[in-house]
Amino acid sequence: MGDLIDKIARPDIAALTPYSARGGAAEGAVLLDANENPWAPPGAKGAWNRYPEQQPAPLVSRIADLYGVAKDQLLLTRGADEAIDLLFRATCRAGKDNAVISPPTFGLYGVAAKVQGAGLTPVPLDDNYAIVPDDIIAEAQSKATKLVFLCSPNNPTGNLMARQDVVRIARECAAQLVVVDEAYIEFAEADSLTGELAELQNLVVLKTLSKAYGLAGARLGTMIANAPVINLLRKVLPPYPLPSPVITEVLSALAPVNMAIFNERIARIKAERERLYTALLGSEDVQKIWPSAANFLLVQLNLKSDIQTRLKASAIHVRDFSALGEGKVRISVGTPEHNNALLAVFGAGENKPANLRRAAISRQTKETQISALVDLDADEPVNIQTGIGFFDHMLEQIARHGGFSLILTARGDLHIDEHHTVEDCAIVLGQALRQALGDRAGIGRYGFVLPMDEAQARIAVDLSGRPALRFAADIPDEGVGGFGGQMVPHVFETMAQHLGAAIHIEAEGQNTHHVIEAIFKGFGRALRPALARGEGTAIPSSKGVL
Ligand SMILES: *Cc1c(COP(=O)(O)O)cnc(C)c1O
Repeated sequence: MGDLIDKIARPDIAALTPYSARGGAAEGAVLLDANENPWAPPGAKGAWNRYPEQQPAPLVSRIADLYGVAKDQLLLTRGADEAIDLLFRATCRAGKDNAVISPPTFGLYGVAAKVQGAGLTPVPLDDNYAIVPDDIIAEAQSKATKLVFLCSPNNPTGNLMARQDVVRIARECAAQLVVVDEAYIEFAEADSLTGELAELQNLVVLKTLSKAYGLAGARLGTMIANAPVINLLRKVLPPYPLPSPVITEVLSALAPVNMAIFNERIARIKAERERLYTALLGSEDVQKIWPSAANFLLVQLNLKSDIQTRLKASAIHVRDFSALGEGKVRISVGTPEHNNALLAVFGAGENKPANLRRAAISRQTKETQISALVDLDADEPVNIQTGIGFFDHMLEQIARHGGFSLILTARGDLHIDEHHTVEDCAIVLGQALRQALGDRAGIGRYGFVLPMDEAQARIAVDLSGRPALRFAADIPDEGVGGFGGQMVPHVFETMAQHLGAAIHIEAEGQNTHHVIEAIFKGFGRALRPALARGEGTAIPSSKGVL
């Protein structure tokens, strides 16, 4: 391994003593060593007066978990873009060393090479946009090549590179770093190459939170490699690459309770990609589309069509790739709403106004972390994990009988009791429904109903915007399955507040489980017509607002 570092490192970088910043400091230590201001500015949401850690430990742990690698196998950078730059700085001597790239591919490899004064050896993709391993290996071995870049899935062509080709290149180019850029891997049906790190000492995998995790504005990328490679790259890493607000916000966005929502959105983007692919193929403006494993499509437009003008007139931006041939564009997959707008311009697909009634809420306190995604116009998926089996079952009743899709994940202080978790889930569900309802235009507003075996629940709902609860049911305090009886009215009280609804509940029966279930089911049933949109778009109130 020392061998590898000797071969790839710029000698002056290998010999460099990196800039020394403050190491870790104990809680409560008096920090007079970095010429910082002792006061954070008014309104700061953290100790912004202090220099951040170069590699903040909590974020390193979270990202190691996310990508399933060890903490010493990664380097957090200001976007994957910075990782590309660092790779050139650490390995390539200006005017002497080279990188191999396979165009058409991500343009930044070439720019970063030029900034460093490194040479570029292009080994073009073949006619199917696949890499050509024999040529890449031959070129890498014939010159002073330090880096081989493979982008998989490739930007802008969208295809995944064959794993056995990548592995073969890494094996045979043992004196080079083989860098696999996986910026889009979450959208592909393929495992990350990180699984090969134990075998391949010269493998580097790049990841980003910009694409699958919607954090392009936060600038957070990750370089993954074996520890000796990471240690070399650390020498050229700036002392404070990640701003404190970014560290805090990214940790909050990546809270484990949010993962179900990320996964749903990734699945949605993949489904929309396939929908766009099929619909665009049917458009007269399109000549060819390449299948994609990423969140975009490379499209060959029909050269006779005026589609580019029409897109501009509709203020829809797609990326011009005429450098690859006249009429080629790269189209990113948007929300169903964006995609419908695009398809309308292409004269493809139904042009229904997609006024989406979806909402995502993430709420994090010291007691609970909860996230929910609601889609009022879909009935799947319903996926609920609160840590309280009975409550999961009850919330599922609301969604199933209410006829809406709900993903809700909670991690609460159940070691104390169920109270905080149950209450906060009701807050989050109420808020998510309220937000998804938007201005409540076109909704039924009222709902009624429900018998269940020997039990009966009569429930009326008015999505009036004004909270009120009338609750008349005798439920014994011991409740069911770790779910206390008093929690039932408490859930609906909280829901009424946060949803903005009048909820009237009456119920009775012999069996407590039945009575509670009848209430939750009945609430869902009552919500269904209240949430449903009819043909009209009027706000169902003589006041004109709800
Ligand atoms: C978008 C993109 C990146 C950049 O990622 P950041 O983390 O936003 O810098 C890297 N590689 C490829 C192939 C990309 O398309």
